[in-house]
Amino acid sequence: MKILFEGDIGKALCEHCQAVVGMHYQRRDVPFSDGQGVARDILVGVCDGCDTVVAIPAQSTPAIRDARKEQLKSIEARLPAVYLDVLDAAMHRVCSEAGANLRKLFLAHYLQQLVQARQGEGLRPAHEAFVLALECQRQQRGLPASSATRRLSMKVNPHMAEDFLALMQQTHMNQTELLKAVIARIQADVLEGHDPQVIDNLRSLARIAG
Ligand SMILES: [Zn+2]
Repeated sequence: MKILFEGDIGKALCEHCQAVVGMHYQRRDVPFSDGQGVARDILVGVCDGCDTVVAIPAQSTPAIRDARKEQLKSIEARLPAVYLDVLDAAMHRVCSEAGANLRKLFLAHYLQQLVQARQGEGLRPAHEAFVLALECQRQQRGLPASSATRRLSMKVNPHMAEDFLALMQQTHMNQTELLKAVIARIQADVLEGHDPQVIDNLRSLARIAG
C-alpha cells in the first residue's frame, strides 16, 4: 500500500468545482459526518482550485473513527416522555425488580445486537410502525397529543459508543432519532411480540446487573 505524505498530489472529483481537479495532501481538522466535533490533524486531499477537502485516504479513516469514539463519552437526548415510559414498561416486563439503572444496559445490549446482526435498516420502519400505533391508540380514546418530554442521559463506554456510532452511520439517524427507534424495536420485541429469546437474554442481563 502506498503511504501518502503531506505534499503528495493526485486527482479527485470536487463537488464544489463540479470537475475532476488536481489536489494536494495536507493536514486538516476534519468535521465528523454528523457535524458534532472534529478530528484534528488528519491527512486529507484538498482541491487546488477551491481549497475544500475532496479526498480522505484510507490511512486516515481509523484516526477519524477513533477521535469520534473518544469524544462520545455520553449519550444525551430529550425524548417524548412516552418513549421512556415504554422502555421502562419493557424492562418491568422482563424483570419486576428493574430500576432505571437498567436502561443503559438494555440499550447497550440492543445496540450491540443490531450492529452484529446488521439490522440497522429495519429500525426506521419499526419506528414508523410504533409512532402510527401510538397515534392510533390515542385517537381511539379521544385524547389530546402530549408535548411532555423526558431526558435520557447515559455515560457510555467505548464499546457502546462504537456500536452507537456504527448504527448512526448505517441508518443516517441522529442520536435522538436512533434512541427513539431502538426503543420502538424493544417495544415490538418485548411488549408486542413477547419474543421468548429476547426476553430470556434481557432477563439474564438484568440478573447479572443485579
Ligand atoms: Zn474545488
